[in-house]
Amino acid sequence: MNFLEERIIKDGVVKEGNVLKVDSFLNHQMDIKLLDEMGAEFKRRFAKKPINKILTIESSGIGIACVAAQHFDVPVVFAKKSQSINLDGDMYVAEVESFTHKCRNHVIVAQRFLTPEDRVLIIDDFLANGCALQGLIQIVQSSGAIVEGIGIAIEKGFQSGGRIIRNLGFQLESLAIVDGMDAATGHIQFRDQSKMQENVFVSEDENICRSSTLD
Ligand code: 5GP
Repeated sequence: MNFLEERIIKDGVVKEGNVLKVDSFLNHQMDIKLLDEMGAEFKRRFAKKPINKILTIESSGIGIACVAAQHFDVPVVFAKKSQSINLDGDMYVAEVESFTHKCRNHVIVAQRFLTPEDRVLIIDDFLANGCALQGLIQIVQSSGAIVEGIGIAIEKGFQSGGRIIRNLGFQLESLAIVDGMDAATGHIQFRDQSKMQENVFVSEDENICRSSTLD
């Protein structure tokens, strides 16, 4: 077990509805030493990539992305989920389905913060069905920038997002992959990442994200 898997076993809580709560150390209260270890691991896994920007999505990706950014020495841009008076100028917009809130959000990035020169690492806390990630990928691609890789803290491997994103050809690195969890017993099963299969078939129906760019 790696350091993040150990922490999930110690402090994660399995809830009904396939939700893993990690709010005591990752996405409400944040253990910065743990985030720093995660940042170092992302840097190790993407060491060969010429990353000059990290993109994440508010709110729970921001802390992880900021600590990771110190290891890459690059700025962080976070996609906003609502229009605000502080957002001005031209924007890239994608529509994504939210797993936790069961609603649809617009994710928005000001065009001046993503340019064709950017080589982007996308970071987020969770990967479930992949809707948030597909929205962020669309935004990067609309800008002409390149997605160099995707770093996720916790992938729920029993949902389709990981397979969809890997099949699209992206380097997706998840620090922990949960292959099964049981709310009744609290048991969490992690994938042995040394035995990862590449390009597992995903049917069209499994991609439940209906994200589309709106700009
Ligand atoms: P997706 O778009 O991949 O379906 O879901 C990813 C987003 O939903 C993440 O940004 C994360 O905030 C949230 N999410 C998905 N599954 C979980 C979960 O089991 N626990 C928590 N805390 N958040 C989740």
